[in-house]
Amino acid sequence: MRYTLIYKCIKSISKIMSSNLILQRVCEYCNKPFTAYTTKTRYCSKSCNSRDYKSKIRNEKLNISKVEFKQKVLESPHNIILLNIKPYLNIKETCLLLNASDSTIRKMIKEGVLPTMRIGVKHVIRKSDIDKLFTY
Ligand SMILES: [Zn+2]
Repeated sequence: MRYTLIYKCIKSISKIMSSNLILQRVCEYCNKPFTAYTTKTRYCSKSCNSRDYKSKIRNEKLNISKVEFKQKVLESPHNIILLNIKPYLNIKETCLLLNASDSTIRKMIKEGVLPTMRIGVKHVIRKSDIDKLFTY
């Protein structure tokens, strides 16, 4: 008695899970209606499935590269926006700010055009002194 009931239940479950089931679905990739034979089918074809999978991977890679760009460029210590805020710069930062070479900046320092203060072996350049170069 008990076993027959369990058997009936299993049989009915297998009927639901088998391909006898026909559902009308809309493909998650191409939005076209299709006939699904299982409750878990999400795509109309294997190509839609792989295209959606590939686009998801592509979007993940794009997001990762956007985050890397933000970390490398916007949050780098030599960011041009940050250089405009800083009151004191080193030679490398001055080169980036003025788009000049290292030798040009060192020549300007040697000729006294650009005043600096030395901390040990390093030159410290005041941002206001750079701004004074452009006032007449
Ligand atoms: Zn599709």
